[in-house]
Amino acid sequence: MRKLLYVVLDGAGDRPHPQLGGKTPLQYAHKPNMDRLAKKGVTGLVYVVGEGIAPESDAAVLSILGYDPFAHHTGRGVLEAMGAGIDFEDGWLALRCNFATVDRDLTIVDRRCGRTLTTSEAAELAKAINEEVRLEGATFTFKNTIGHRGVLVIKRLDGPLSSNITNTDPAYEKVGGLGVARAKSEAKVSMCRPLDDSPEAAMAAKLVNEFTTKAIEVLERHPINSERRRRGLLPANAILCRDAGHERPRLKPLSELYGLRMACLAEMPVERGIAIAAGMEVIPIPPMLGSVEVDYRLRAESSLEALYKYDGVYVHLKGPDEPGHDGDPLRKAKSIEDIDKHFFEVVVEDLDLDNVVIIVTSDHATPCTLKVHSDDPVPILIAGGGVEPDDVDRFDEESCKRGVLGVVKGTEIMSIAIGYLKSA
Ligand code: ZN
Ligand code: ZN
Repeated sequence: MRKLLYVVLDGAGDRPHPQLGGKTPLQYAHKPNMDRLAKKGVTGLVYVVGEGIAPESDAAVLSILGYDPFAHHTGRGVLEAMGAGIDFEDGWLALRCNFATVDRDLTIVDRRCGRTLTTSEAAELAKAINEEVRLEGATFTFKNTIGHRGVLVIKRLDGPLSSNITNTDPAYEKVGGLGVARAKSEAKVSMCRPLDDSPEAAMAAKLVNEFTTKAIEVLERHPINSERRRRGLLPANAILCRDAGHERPRLKPLSELYGLRMACLAEMPVERGIAIAAGMEVIPIPPMLGSVEVDYRLRAESSLEALYKYDGVYVHLKGPDEPGHDGDPLRKAKSIEDIDKHFFEVVVEDLDLDNVVIIVTSDHATPCTLKVHSDDPVPILIAGGGVEPDDVDRFDEESCKRGVLGVVKGTEIMSIAIGYLKSA
């Protein structure tokens, strides 16, 4: 059977933007390699989780790997913990966290400390929190991951906890069990509230609030923050929590579902956590270090190398999502161009398209005009193997509308690709 290379550009989908002459970043960007693949392949649009649902990356990635996120989602916190290498057992509580900047009355000044918190600063702050904060009746591990991001795992000493609680991060809410970004959010750190009458949820909410208060005390007086204030940077003086989970996801491995032994190349803990849960081998890859050329080339070469050893490789490239959240369409288009030049150029040159099927898509749109994820369908291309090309020769929202794949659901992508892997 042929091999599968599955490339996902985080948050690449978008809407037309006045700063780009009414084009989307994918339409505006010069990306000859992705367009060449579109020309050789079939194209279409994907509703990643469903119409009306603006997914976070976790639900989105579960879906595009073929898992119904509503049936399988157990809270992003757990996936983040697994991906960050923290022990987790059913009945413990795991939450995704952000270091944030708040003022005295807990009004949020910036929910990501202006994106200026370095991973090493965050590690110092996390160390202080683990050493100095004590919770009543529970122990915890707080781990910073990349930049302002982190994970919190709380273990109650005398019983289980329930994740049926609200977020303290007001930018996200729970809809049908999934974490969903709010288009407009409250300005203050929210109190964590139980969402049912169980003592497990009440205890979980109490512990999250206790952690939030005590963490602020430690962070507020930490030398790292005095230094940041001195340098005119926003202090990382609070931790926002969201997307609680209390049980490990039980996914049927991809090898059983599709007969593919897959590896995953991803730098963010949540995608790594999903990869582990889906039975993929996680290929270690350093975070983006600054030189896009070096960073994307390394990802391209590692993907090609992994294709020798595995039946399929899932590659998740960060890049376009962040400028989407910042509302910067030019930087987003540039990020797409960087990926085209430094990732796809290397891959396309080396790939034997007779024996490899390549999928390129996005896990969701992050429109610059909205600055949050949206439910807009994202473009997809599938090339190589037995694929008979359609007449679309560009990879963007408008062009792929005309593709022969039509409009598909995220959960259908894997089965469509398997068809091409096996076709004569
Ligand atoms: Zn994403
Ligand atoms: Zn995002």
